[in-house]
Amino acid sequence: MASASTNDIEFRSVTKNYGAVTAVTDITLNVPKGAFLALLGPSGCGKTTCLRMIGGFEQPSEGTVHIDGREMNGIPAYRRPVNMVFQHYALFPHFNVEQNVAYGLKQMRPRMAAAEISRRVAEALEMVRLGGFAKRRIHEMSGGQQQRVALARAIVNRPSVLLLDEPLAALDKKLRSAMQIELQTLQRELGITFVLVTHDQEEALSMADIVCVMSAGQIRQLGTPQEVYDRPADLFVADFVGKTNRISATMEADGTTLRLANGTAIMPGIRLLPGKAIAALRPEAIHLTRGKAVAGTSFKGMVTHRIFLGSSVEYAVSVPGLGDFLITADRRSMNESDLVKPGEEVFLSFDPTAVHVFPASNA
Ligand code: ATP
Repeated sequence: MASASTNDIEFRSVTKNYGAVTAVTDITLNVPKGAFLALLGPSGCGKTTCLRMIGGFEQPSEGTVHIDGREMNGIPAYRRPVNMVFQHYALFPHFNVEQNVAYGLKQMRPRMAAAEISRRVAEALEMVRLGGFAKRRIHEMSGGQQQRVALARAIVNRPSVLLLDEPLAALDKKLRSAMQIELQTLQRELGITFVLVTHDQEEALSMADIVCVMSAGQIRQLGTPQEVYDRPADLFVADFVGKTNRISATMEADGTTLRLANGTAIMPGIRLLPGKAIAALRPEAIHLTRGKAVAGTSFKGMVTHRIFLGSSVEYAVSVPGLGDFLITADRRSMNESDLVKPGEEVFLSFDPTAVHVFPASNA
């Protein structure tokens, strides 16, 4: 039944099996209207299957998918208020840009007036900044421009949801960063719901306003980019979204004192059942200093590797009793002589409340 809904897309207990393979297990998800959602996870976790069930290219084995309050099970792709941009664009090579973008509108029944088609195509090309390219042939366009043609074609019939399946995967790094900003701007201008599939955490964090982290057919965490990065729900999310140092530990009987593998006790400011645990610490939460430690918990260690990344430097530091740590140091306050060299002895210091603690059974 149609109803006014503030959710554009809803999954209600959706499971999808392909024969003996279960791609998605019992997923429940609400995506508000106008949101930019990223489905993020490793290869095979089920994100494309979710996207294809929204698009109508697959049907759920169990449960229901709703768009704007209407149940979509059994409704074919072409009757859904949804369009999809594929990884390899799927443009018609023998058509020019304008013909590619107009194609869907020309197929509509009842027919749309030619003047209206031209007006909408011109508007869509303007939105993706290809105003002057209407007559160009596809093979005369760069990869980034072809990507924009695919976007124009997907928005020209004004869908209420746009699905993007790894849309930037074929572009080089620099172009990809530029397109990330453009996609975000386009989504704000159009005000429609975008659902992006990616295995690239940086892409998900930088573009989306809601990130859905998936693994093995299930949702591990749903939240803003900052929430999933700063407060990962489990060790999988902590590892997959950004880098993390894992430290073996034991939660003591009081449920608040965490004893690290080298005997150091810290108070991370959380409560957890006593027993084996894993402490997770982001590389940028650790201060690396020579000579003396800064406030907080600190360890002595030895630098084993240094990776110069331009605006930051990554260090690997071996700490007795705890193993290797990865540390990211911002270069803003550093000059060349401040760069620590492999072989040097250093102090690693961190605020114990920056440590996330998970039961070891979660590993
Ligand atoms: P990738 O990033 O590699 O595209 P994904 O997270 O999008 O992966 P899906 O493509 O949704 O994952 O696949 C989820 C699981 O379902 C995988 O185990 C995959 O092999 C399986 N699968 C997907 N499509 C089919 C199909 N048509 N027939 C059989 N199994 C399939």
